[in-house]
Amino acid sequence: MVLDDLGSSLRGTLDKLRGKSRISEEDVDEIVKEIQRSLLQADVDVSLVMELSDSIEERALEEEPPGGTSARDHVLRIVYEELVDLVGESTEIPLENQTILLAGLQGSGKTTTAAKMAWWFSKKGLRPAVIQTDTFRPGAYDQAKQMTERAEVAFYGDPDEDDPVKIARDGLEATEDADVHIVDTAGRHALEDDLINEIEDIESAVEPDRSLLVLDAAIGQGAKDQAREFDDSIGIDGVAITKLDGTAKGGGALTAVDETGSTIAFLGSGETVQDIERFEPDSFISRLLGMGDLKQLTERVERAMEETGLEEDEDWDPEDLMKGEFTLKDMRKQMEAMDNMGPLDQVMDMIPGMGGGLMDQLPDDAMDVTQERMRNFEVIMDSMTEEELENPRSIGASQVRRIAKGSGKSEDTIRELLDQHKMMSQTMKQFQGMGDGDMQRMMKQ
Ligand code: GDP
Repeated sequence: MVLDDLGSSLRGTLDKLRGKSRISEEDVDEIVKEIQRSLLQADVDVSLVMELSDSIEERALEEEPPGGTSARDHVLRIVYEELVDLVGESTEIPLENQTILLAGLQGSGKTTTAAKMAWWFSKKGLRPAVIQTDTFRPGAYDQAKQMTERAEVAFYGDPDEDDPVKIARDGLEATEDADVHIVDTAGRHALEDDLINEIEDIESAVEPDRSLLVLDAAIGQGAKDQAREFDDSIGIDGVAITKLDGTAKGGGALTAVDETGSTIAFLGSGETVQDIERFEPDSFISRLLGMGDLKQLTERVERAMEETGLEEDEDWDPEDLMKGEFTLKDMRKQMEAMDNMGPLDQVMDMIPGMGGGLMDQLPDDAMDVTQERMRNFEVIMDSMTEEELENPRSIGASQVRRIAKGSGKSEDTIRELLDQHKMMSQTMKQFQGMGDGDMQRMMKQ
């Protein structure tokens, strides 16, 4: 995650302010140094870092904290606002008829991002199509075809044609029914004249409504030249940052955004079509600062529930999770949903207070939901009575024996299930108290 390091180190520094109502110059100095160190380490441009730290310093010392605000919350709010300012607004992506052109170097993640974006648009109710014009990279056609099949969206490419401009034109025609056209282009290892000429020709042929530059989060300061070249030739409206799952950097991408006067549109964090989200500055920064991101979390949970078919279950209301007892029925539903939600560490980062290292404190298997475990657990739960499912704590040794016999599983497996429930139940208790966490308190002023 970009600036991930900033999140954890800053939280540590800010935590030292807990309980203080006044903030000293030394406190501010320490915080600003921490921010500078993290930003520079994440490859953010030096002049951007200086600008940001100057304004944080000035505001932290000069602004009076609103009544009742602790020094920690006051500084946290300033840091939050300044960071949101640094990353800028999100690129406007209207949910309507449009053509989007993707540019970037080879390997930056263009083809993957094209399929991901198409999936994203399809989830918003549009009918997207991906047009693959990359005739340079041998595997591009097959890769795009497979990924768009997985995303269940329309695709056009022609492995026998070597004129990308013709493919682009034919593709627009062949996918006339689609409302969003995403045109993927070829990349090269470096910026060469023929790459620039080719993308200019494609741009003239498709007349995109917006052009996005796809950048690998690990790119560093090289992003600056790349962004400038692409911006000069086709005009860059927004940036899609990829591979955020694999790096703690990402500052180069921020520099590219600054260089082109554009904004961030999408974030990619994995190799499957679902690993994409719209860039939203406030939720991005909240997550980064360990304040959680309830909005993203809610979206993911909703999507996972749709896929699990949980909505249709009249006996079970997900809202119950946030209140009252966590039953075995809840656990079963939750395990199914989690299976659909994606990597747990990503999910945990979105929960207020759970990000940045808190995961490391949980036992490794606290939420280990493997398929095999789930199958075992399901068989076991089928051998339990309604009362046992609702109130697993009441299950004693004789019941464990009976359930083991009934399900054909060992008593150890039954106890494993009960232990798992206990762990998940404790974790849920933690969440329940988090509804009005740092974030809300901070924003209330
Ligand atoms: P292109 O040459 O720009 O079209 O790049 P590709 O889309 O082929 O991506 C290059 C490699 O990066 C592929 O192996 C992708 O699976 C991988 N990739 C793309 N986006 C992500 C991402 O967000 N996370 C991870 N881990 N890998 C990614």
